[in-house]
Amino acid sequence: MNLFILGVTGNIGEQTLDIVRSSKGKYKVVSVSGNNNFEKMKNIIEEFKPLYVSMGKRDIIIRLEKLYPKIEFGFGREGLIKAATYSKLGNDLVVNAVVGSVGLEPTIEAIKKGRNIALANKETLVIGGEIINKLIKKHNVKLIPIDSEHSAIMQCLNGEDSSTIKNIIITASGGSFRDKTKEELKKVTVNDALNHPNWSMGAKVTIDSATMMNKGLEVIEAHYLFNVEYENIKTVMHRESIVHSLVEFHDTSVIAHLGNPDMRVPINYALSYPKRTEYKGEALDLIKVGSLHFEELSYKKYPLLKMAIDAGKSKGLNPTTLNAANEAAVNLFLNGKILFLQIEEIIRESLDVFKNDSEISLKKILDRDLKVKDYIYKKYS
Ligand code: MG
Repeated sequence: MNLFILGVTGNIGEQTLDIVRSSKGKYKVVSVSGNNNFEKMKNIIEEFKPLYVSMGKRDIIIRLEKLYPKIEFGFGREGLIKAATYSKLGNDLVVNAVVGSVGLEPTIEAIKKGRNIALANKETLVIGGEIINKLIKKHNVKLIPIDSEHSAIMQCLNGEDSSTIKNIIITASGGSFRDKTKEELKKVTVNDALNHPNWSMGAKVTIDSATMMNKGLEVIEAHYLFNVEYENIKTVMHRESIVHSLVEFHDTSVIAHLGNPDMRVPINYALSYPKRTEYKGEALDLIKVGSLHFEELSYKKYPLLKMAIDAGKSKGLNPTTLNAANEAAVNLFLNGKILFLQIEEIIRESLDVFKNDSEISLKKILDRDLKVKDYIYKKYS
């Protein structure tokens, strides 16, 4: 199978390469995109020999071109889209592991090319779900989730009639601050936030897990992936991250997906879907795990969870506003410009300032995304 990996130098991208490495030639890396990590990309080129490479900015490409004159290079938005649509080889799969709204356009262009997508980029469905679902139907392509919760749900639904689904139940570890009070959250630092109890993830999603925005975005994604109403998508806190999500059926049966928290499992499943191929990870030891805990995820403690679900329900441009405000605010927090609790204040403010528009288009989404980020960076940088 031919892989086109967007965001290859990030956390999910690197773990995708782990699967490629262990596949004994089953997967070929055709094109890759990164952002600004020259050394990492150099190593990836040496090991996987892609035909096309794109980076965020031109200056890094110039340095790489000198080293690898036979490879085709691109950069920025155009380069990213080209990495997703490069060549036509047959048996192609795009792995979209880019972080942020920038992941939407390459997904769209790859679908238009009839290419299946293994999706780790949440924003594709959060801001573009309505557009994407129409395109998937039109071009008859598969969208396979990489996110552990959605991969779990997809596996629980295997062979089931969708009319028998009663509820989808998404689990959440609770993030780095699950045991902190609101008062304690006032003074948490970037380093505190980046210390996730169970999962190894990139900085953005680790902060999103601490604010619970991540779970909100996942509810919106689940709505579009599985065509289930928001009222029937529940969330529950589960500290051990062993149950990755569950589906409740109309006969009261509940099917859960269990496993150790290792992103390479859902990545491996997405790459080999609909087959299940071997992965030599650590086996789940239930005796060692001992007990599993489930608690209510409180909207009071995690107001961003509710804000995200409400934005999802209101559709139109509200999810774009919410997501853009979150991207900008998390970026400001990571750069020490704002406090942790200001993330939610800034998102609430943005949803007040930027009014919803129910008639969406790609142009409107991209335009709103830029305007919201611009507004926040000008005001808070
Ligand atoms: Mg997840």
